[in-house]
Amino acid sequence: MPFLKSVLKQYDLVVDKLELPDGVRERLRHPKRSLIVSIPIEMDNGMINVYKGYRVQHDITLGPSKGGIRYHPNVNLEEVTALAMLMSWKCALMKLPYGGAKGGVCCTPAAMSLKEKERLTRRFTSEIIWAIGPEEDIPAPDMNTNMQTMAWMMDTYSMLKGHTTLGVVTGKPLVLGGSLGREEGTGRGVYYMVEESAKIMGKELKGLRVAIQGFGNVGSTAARLLFEQGSKVIAVSDSNGGIYNRNGIDIENLIQHVNENKAISHYPDVEIITNQDLLTIDCDALIPASVEGQITRYNAGNVKAGVIVEGANGPTTPEADMILSERNVRVIPDILANAGGVVISYFEWVQDLQFYFWKENEIQHRLKEIMAEIFNTVLSMSQKRKIDMRMAAWTLGINRIAEAQKIRGLYP
Ligand code: GLU
Repeated sequence: MPFLKSVLKQYDLVVDKLELPDGVRERLRHPKRSLIVSIPIEMDNGMINVYKGYRVQHDITLGPSKGGIRYHPNVNLEEVTALAMLMSWKCALMKLPYGGAKGGVCCTPAAMSLKEKERLTRRFTSEIIWAIGPEEDIPAPDMNTNMQTMAWMMDTYSMLKGHTTLGVVTGKPLVLGGSLGREEGTGRGVYYMVEESAKIMGKELKGLRVAIQGFGNVGSTAARLLFEQGSKVIAVSDSNGGIYNRNGIDIENLIQHVNENKAISHYPDVEIITNQDLLTIDCDALIPASVEGQITRYNAGNVKAGVIVEGANGPTTPEADMILSERNVRVIPDILANAGGVVISYFEWVQDLQFYFWKENEIQHRLKEIMAEIFNTVLSMSQKRKIDMRMAAWTLGINRIAEAQKIRGLYP
């Protein structure tokens, strides 16, 4: 099922159970604004390529819209729209003063040079410039984009406006108004969610057997933090496939190996597995941290983990959710599990607007406090209403936006 269809199906499942004010259901079903741009850039060989770029602002009821920019060959309007909707629920759930947005460019970053990526980012920024800004819409990194991408976006925006604007993007390098802890924020949040889940399973992080799909920023950070606490990371994968060692993989060594080889393949003393094998491996916690649509009705029945902590956005389909819930596999939904990134983005934006920067332990402490508080709110709602945690998290997020829409009223 296409991703947008599956997100809308989930939306209908949730709002069917809510008593929303008139019109709110329909208003939140559609993105507020969708922008499609053509991005011509000169390649290193002198040829001109034209890429398609997108920025979708799903909702701005609670504040400026917020969400990442991804570079990937599968980026399209439907995917970006679905991801923008998830950002609205995520920001509302985490009580951030933001609406949801997402953007992306359909391209193959692995086949592009740094200079080509810089030209792409700068031209894309100038094409969407009227839609973004510190009080309008604030991009951040996502799949295949990073601090450098954000630095180019911030510079392009600032050059065109004629003054340096720190708060236009988050996830920037420290020297440009970035925040301590932002780069590892999403992975750290995932780690806190594994910690909270372990508590309710009556288990400790030490010795916890974890499998992680995806070894990008999110997967590798969560793996490292869990490894540091003595968890056994028994399986890890990237887009080319995975590795398994029942005694646990030394994550520090693996990170070094990946830095040198740009992939996890050829890592010694492990069994080779596929990405599909990884999802059904016998473990305590499964962390899907790659792309959407990984846990489906075809493999959900074979998942052996006690808990799934969604590092990626949209890794589980609604059909899979139903199977998992019948089998008592707890799912910590993406809009909660991977919210650490946008929570620290919020801290970064607040620091940028005030030109006043916080210490790292203050940031980590506040992140942990927020993640644990919302985890417990979602958990107790799911227990009280006998619904799964995704249903509870979406309900909290959507209700918050609905309440604000009701009080604001309909213009004109
Ligand atoms: N791209 C991240 C996400 O999906 C972070 C968004 C942000 O920091 O604005 O939540």
